[in-house]
Amino acid sequence: MTNVNFDDLPYPHRIVSARRREDMKNEIDTLHADGKLADIVYHSYTRLFDCPMPEGYTESGSLIIAAVPRPQETVGFTWKGTTHWLLLPPTYIRYWEITEQVETLLNQRLKPHGYSATFARVPQKIAAARSGLAQYGRNNIAYVPGCGSFHMLVTYYSDMPYPDDTWQEPGIMPQCQKCSACANACPSKAISHDGFLIQQDRCITLYSGYSGVLDFPDWLDASWIECLIGCMKCQRTCPENRAYVKWIEQNESFSQEETLLLRSGLTENNIPASIHERLDRIGLIRFFGLKKLLEVLSRKLNLLL
Ligand code: SF4
Ligand code: SF4
Repeated sequence: MTNVNFDDLPYPHRIVSARRREDMKNEIDTLHADGKLADIVYHSYTRLFDCPMPEGYTESGSLIIAAVPRPQETVGFTWKGTTHWLLLPPTYIRYWEITEQVETLLNQRLKPHGYSATFARVPQKIAAARSGLAQYGRNNIAYVPGCGSFHMLVTYYSDMPYPDDTWQEPGIMPQCQKCSACANACPSKAISHDGFLIQQDRCITLYSGYSGVLDFPDWLDASWIECLIGCMKCQRTCPENRAYVKWIEQNESFSQEETLLLRSGLTENNIPASIHERLDRIGLIRFFGLKKLLEVLSRKLNLLL
């Protein structure tokens, strides 16, 4: 328990002891050792799976996990006279801006009590599921009451003690027992019809660039790709997202001339300022890094347009 009042925090959230970082690391290592987490996934997300502890924080503090409801997003690219609004999952656009907004809110509540909070690199889904904030769907996506899977999970280390937490077996959405819609919709057959752990190395999202992996493996059919980044097929098909699936926000758009430049492959040295400014405004440069983002955009625009 804590005497800090988080009741008015506008997002569903949970608090656990910071010693849970060790539990998360162990869980990831066990999944990997048992062959349930592919090498490529284990090594691609090391910076998350290592759960690095920021300076000034210790395991006697806490982890605060929040789910910020977020829409699907689109970015427009004009090609052959038509503007194509290409879809992104509810995570990538303005990721750091939103992460910092939540951090500010937390610090406003913590500071009068002599505590602080800072962003935590941890496996967000495990933190959410083990703290009771989310339940897993068959597609291994975290579902949160009130927003389905349309949210952004963010976790923060705090020096506020929280020794008596609840760290539980991850919940499974009961609705999945009689449903296989996501497994049927998944083009790469990454989702099992009788389990809740997907074959992460067959999930298209892994090959989006963020993890460091950009080259498509031989088995990945380019016609399966629909999103500018990642894949939304299982989430858009899921009946548990029915109430949120039409929540889509339009972002910046790029002219035919700009789209041609992006398709052709711009570099950090020759990107026009106006393109840089708009990619920066929607937070994609900060999320991917400019070099990686330009590689991702060139590849995807050649595929999708
Ligand atoms: S589509 Fe069905 S099985 Fe898949 S996560 Fe949603 S409810 Fe569960
Ligand atoms: S995100 Fe796409 S590829 Fe990954 S499990 Fe869902 S439908 Fe399959």
